[in-house]
Amino acid sequence: MASAMLAIRDLTVNYGRSVQALRGVSLEVAPGTVTAVLGANGAGKTTLLRAISGTLGFHRGTVDGGTITYGDQQLSGLQPPAVVARGVVQVPEGRRIFGRLTVDENLRAGGLGAASRSGAAATRERILELFPVLAERHKQRAGLLSGGEQQMLAIGRALMAAPKVLLLDEPTLGLAPMMAERIGETIAAINEQGTSVLLIEQNAALALRLATNAYVLEVGSVALSGTSAELSASDEVRRRYLGVG
Ligand code: ATP
Repeated sequence: MASAMLAIRDLTVNYGRSVQALRGVSLEVAPGTVTAVLGANGAGKTTLLRAISGTLGFHRGTVDGGTITYGDQQLSGLQPPAVVARGVVQVPEGRRIFGRLTVDENLRAGGLGAASRSGAAATRERILELFPVLAERHKQRAGLLSGGEQQMLAIGRALMAAPKVLLLDEPTLGLAPMMAERIGETIAAINEQGTSVLLIEQNAALALRLATNAYVLEVGSVALSGTSAELSASDEVRRRYLGVG
């Protein structure tokens, strides 16, 4: 099945009564594209991904308005496994790999929800081609991998669920520039293989290079949006997120 449009309309999210993290956010991830979300710390980027993946409740947050749809399916209100089953899969912030399990065991954990689908072995092969270092180290404990390798494993584990849309939360955070570039190349390769990507990134230059469209979140609202070319040319984006001009 070809991927469909992920559409967020007028999304409002609160944490308790005092924190309104998103107010009236609308954005789209067109099929087959990489869409980037930029924004300062606290702008609401992670909250947006939590709302889509159904994990907001684990953080005491609630969707208090708006809709999240994937094609003709409503995602808001679904539990996380049901969102994954519909093909929308998040790579959590901070990687969250299982450090005491091996690389292989981590990958298998990512495929559990998709156990009944055929092709799990083929998916694993494809992931190991994408990340040769994971193939080399497949029997090692994941906790022994470098930060960049752990990020690769976290992405690989999410790919085991055969996503149509991959939600990435700051995948290059804390990585050396060369490793960040490699992660960027991998995101491009995953996208070329047909998976749409919603990419949250503090590395705005990398994100705008990878993405077709981008949004800038500021204190819970969309302040700017457009094609990556348009945003790369915007004075405000250049000054605030690209550190030039
Ligand atoms: P960062 O890059 O720092 O992760 P962000 O853009 O991802 O920032 P969020 O983490 O989504 O921003 O946070 C948006 C707002 O919601 C912030 O004001 C934050 O303090 C608040 N917030 C996030 N999680 C919670 C929570 N579990 N309880 C209360 N407030 C929260």
